[in-house]
Amino acid sequence: MRKHYKLVILGGGTGGISTASRILSKKKDLKDDVLIIEPDDYHYFQPAWPLVGSGDEKLDSTWKPMKKVIPKGACWLQAAVKNVDPVKREVTADDTLISYDFLIVALGIELNYDAIKGARESLGHNGVCTNYLYNLVEYTYESLKNTKSGNIIVTKPEAKIKGGVSAENSLFTMDDFIKQQDRNVDIMFRSGREELFEVKKYNDSLISQMEEKHIDYKLNEELIEVKGKQKQAVFKNTYTGETHTIPFEMLVITPPMHGPSVLKKSGLLDQEGWVDVDKHTMMHKKYTTVFSLGDSSSLPTVKMGAAVRKQLPVLVDNLIERMNDQEPTHKYDGRTACPIATEYGELILAEFGYDRKPKETTFLNQADDKMIFYQFKKNMLPIMYWYALLKGKS
Ligand SMILES: Cc1cc2nc3c(=O)[nH]c(=O)nc-3n(C[C@H](O)[C@H](O)[C@H](O)COP(=O)(O)OP(=O)(O)OC[C@H]3O[C@@H](n4cnc5c(N)ncnc54)[C@H](O)[C@@H]3O)c2cc1C
Repeated sequence: MRKHYKLVILGGGTGGISTASRILSKKKDLKDDVLIIEPDDYHYFQPAWPLVGSGDEKLDSTWKPMKKVIPKGACWLQAAVKNVDPVKREVTADDTLISYDFLIVALGIELNYDAIKGARESLGHNGVCTNYLYNLVEYTYESLKNTKSGNIIVTKPEAKIKGGVSAENSLFTMDDFIKQQDRNVDIMFRSGREELFEVKKYNDSLISQMEEKHIDYKLNEELIEVKGKQKQAVFKNTYTGETHTIPFEMLVITPPMHGPSVLKKSGLLDQEGWVDVDKHTMMHKKYTTVFSLGDSSSLPTVKMGAAVRKQLPVLVDNLIERMNDQEPTHKYDGRTACPIATEYGELILAEFGYDRKPKETTFLNQADDKMIFYQFKKNMLPIMYWYALLKGKS
């Protein structure tokens, strides 16, 4: 195989595939000169997983073979990136050394179940669930159907995560499920964060939702241990350090996450472990041939596919400018969107930017839950994902 490409893209997820598609449609001379490095056989539409976990979507509709989403004109190296040398402009992927002129890092985020004692070995048994692993999402719904009494605890870590509101989506739809079935189950939410949501308007609505639904929610409570066989979850108060043990019938874990560990020695990461890019241009702060978007980047927004959609045109225009030896002039403003199902069929659609002020795209009040938003997320978003975003359209 060839050893040099004009553009190398690390990761064939949302950011990697959409960037390859868009740049190939804008710069025809890059045909066969774009390499995507991605080890997985499949590409996943992850935003649908919380709906699968609550029984309102089929798992099979959430994936496609990777070769079907690689755009025409791009080459695919099915291998895992092991290291990057941005000075020599070289990538090591498994045993292959590839050099590049320009590099896009779209390696996503790493799940860190090991930060919670006992979590990894407990997952998939005794009602210990997660919607972040493809092979376990169906177990979430199976457990929900089997929970007839006791507590369902949904957790969210203090650390940055992808799909920022997936825990709340599960919480509210599971609450709806339990109420529809009239079961004697208590629903609890435990978050390691200081607030429910970082934009006041949506924070206020989420507080109202929790209160109206009589959900027992507590903030600053981080899940630190799972005792699977005893069905107990241990939480630590992030202020006082006190620990509390709560029994559960079902535990839905959103794990802590971190940036790409394979890049630790590359010099590309900031102190927190994210790819250190300018928050507006998405160009690396030190290496001007490197760009990053999506979950692995240091962009200080909520890590969502919806954010990638807004980052995509800016990144590609800036990259083309750099390829023409110009300074990047286009700016990303941090826009992202967080859809929060408040029950089956109703959804709040939070949209905002770096300033944490609402930037709503409809004439409706998006902090009020609406049927139309739920239908949009369930039925329209997958179509827009597979047939527009992955084809490079933002
Ligand atoms: C449960 C859940 C719910 C979500 N809900 C929503 C939602 O409602 N709305 C929304 O907009 N977003 C949602 N998201 C988030 C969204 O899926 C991500 O933000 C988006 O996929 C980010 O794109 P990315 O390209 O940065 O990462 P990804 O799409 O995760 O892609 C990263 C790619 O890098 C590859 N990779 C990893 N390591 C290596 C390596 N060493 N070498 C080569 N390749 C590697 C991976 O295999 C993967 O294909 C959700 C995510 C989850 C898991």
